[in-house]
Amino acid sequence: MSVPSLSLEGKVAIVTGAASRRGMGRAIALTFAEAGADVAVSDLVVDSGDRNLCAVAEEINKFGRRSLAIQADVSKKGDVDDMVRQATDELGPVDILVNNAAIIKISTVLETDEDSWDSVMDVNLKSCFLCSKAVSKGMVERKSGCIISISSMNALDAVPARASYNTSKAGIIMLTRSLARELGSYNIRVNAIAPGAIRTDMGQHNRPGTGDKHVEIDPEQMKRMEAQLLARIPLGRMAESSEVASAALFLASDAASYITGHTLNVEGGWLA
Ligand code: NAD
Repeated sequence: MSVPSLSLEGKVAIVTGAASRRGMGRAIALTFAEAGADVAVSDLVVDSGDRNLCAVAEEINKFGRRSLAIQADVSKKGDVDDMVRQATDELGPVDILVNNAAIIKISTVLETDEDSWDSVMDVNLKSCFLCSKAVSKGMVERKSGCIISISSMNALDAVPARASYNTSKAGIIMLTRSLARELGSYNIRVNAIAPGAIRTDMGQHNRPGTGDKHVEIDPEQMKRMEAQLLARIPLGRMAESSEVASAALFLASDAASYITGHTLNVEGGWLA
């Protein structure tokens, strides 16, 4: 028996929400490129602060792979269809989709207004439906494909003051299972990853008391909050984005050829 390969040689991937320097989208896109894939990266933000989509595309090129930077709001069908069309025209038929883009709003249910709820559902959950549907057409024709959506531990553990985010991430798990049932006969695998506490910009702000906006947190308060969080995690540390990217590579590769409808927890034992 030969050892299964993690190579993505000859594959074309789209990764959404990939502009953030410390984010999981960038880490996944670069890991896929290193494994041999050509990668289209997309984000709502092209160049602002430490989000730079073209810089990520250039990093992909450094691995000798083709890349494409596409501005797209994944909550809008028109943007999503254009994104898939551009990626297909420039790089070829899409083999792998990673639904990574998301936002978080921190407020209690009683403080959450309808617009805030809708925006989280649209960006986090509806986007997975729109993007998965847009790539599925070609995948069904070719009888081959792989879709990975990034859920969260918040889908499984009701973290306070994040009901819209928690609910959107739980929806991703059921959408994943539903798509796996519908698309399995076309040899399309559909899986989710549920990360725990990851050291990214969102990870830094997904903490009690930080409010809805990105705010500077007092370093001492930050240390206390981190200690509370880490007390729940058997491995005793937050993860780096690259550790989630490794899980995505596994799910995208032939090593996971019989895995579909599954949610892979990458959470340091949070649920143990
Ligand atoms: P991040 O904020 O660094 O990256 C998210 C990206 O999504 C950003 O670049 C942002 O511009 C983009 N985005 C936001 N709205 C968009 C839209 N409408 N259209 C297109 N792009 C949009 O976050 P991250 O921590 O790297 O998170 C990546 C994924 O992992 C998300 O799905 C998040 O919910 C999930 N997650 C994060 C953590 C954590 O601790 N960081 C834990 C569990 C799950």
